[in-house]
Amino acid sequence: MRKKIVAGNWKMNLTSVQSEDLVAVLSEKLENFNNNGKRIIVAPTFVNLVPVVACDDRNAMIEVAAQNMHQASSGAFTGEIAANMLQTIGVPNVILGHSERRAYFGETDALLAEKVEVALEHNMQVIFCFGEELEDRKSNKHFDVVESQLKNALFQLPASAWDDIVLAYEPVWAIGTGETASPEQAQEMHEFIRKTIAEAYSAEVADEVSILYGGSVKPANAKEIFSKPDVDGGLIGGASLKADDFFAIIDAM
Ligand code: PGA
Repeated sequence: MRKKIVAGNWKMNLTSVQSEDLVAVLSEKLENFNNNGKRIIVAPTFVNLVPVVACDDRNAMIEVAAQNMHQASSGAFTGEIAANMLQTIGVPNVILGHSERRAYFGETDALLAEKVEVALEHNMQVIFCFGEELEDRKSNKHFDVVESQLKNALFQLPASAWDDIVLAYEPVWAIGTGETASPEQAQEMHEFIRKTIAEAYSAEVADEVSILYGGSVKPANAKEIFSKPDVDGGLIGGASLKADDFFAIIDAM
C-alpha cells in the first residue's frame, strides 16, 4: 500500500530560531494526533537542517528533507552540498527537480537523472518534482512534457529503485501563484503519470509509488485535492510556513 505524505518545502525562508520554533509548535499540535501511518516531512534550508534534526519532535512523526544536493560525492564545487553530508547529519530525504531549481539554476532532466542516482546510492529517498508550464498546458502539451520529464530523469532506474522515489507533480503555473490545479486536473494528470509508469515498468510499481500534488495547496482546498484516488498527498510551499495551516493540511489528508 502506498503511503500518504504531506511535505513542507520551506524554500529560502525562516532563520534557525524560526525553523526550530515551527517544528516545536508543529510537534505540539501532532501530540495525540493519529496520523494513521501518513508521513509528514519538512524541508528547511541547508543551514537549518542540523537544528531541525536536533529538534525534540516528541512524537517522532516529523521527517526532514533537504531541498537539493549536488551530484558529486565531494570536491571543488564551492557552495554545494553532497549526499553523504546530508546522510551523516541524519537527513534521509531530498527534494530534487523543483521547478525553481530548473528555472533559476538551469537544472535539466539529464542533470537530475544523475542527482537521483547519487541520492539513491546513498540510501536516500528522493521527492522528485516535475510539471508543465502554463504555455505547455495552453498548447495542450502538458501530458507530453510530463511524460518526457519522467522518462529523461527517472526511467533509467531499475524497478527496485522506485521503493525510494516519491513523485511530486507541480504544475509551474500553480506554484506560489494562488492558482491551483482543480482537483479534476490533478487527478487526470496523476492518473496519466501512474499509467505512464505502469507502461514503463509494471502495474505494481505504478500502484506503489506515492504521487503528491503541489502548487498553492492550502487548508481551504487540501481536502478536495487529497480526496482524489491518485493523489497521495501534497508538497506544500507557502502554507507550510505557518504551523496552523500546515497542520490543517496534514489533518485534511
Ligand atoms: P506553493 O509552493 O505551495 O507556495 O505554491 C509549492 C512548491 O513549490 O513546492
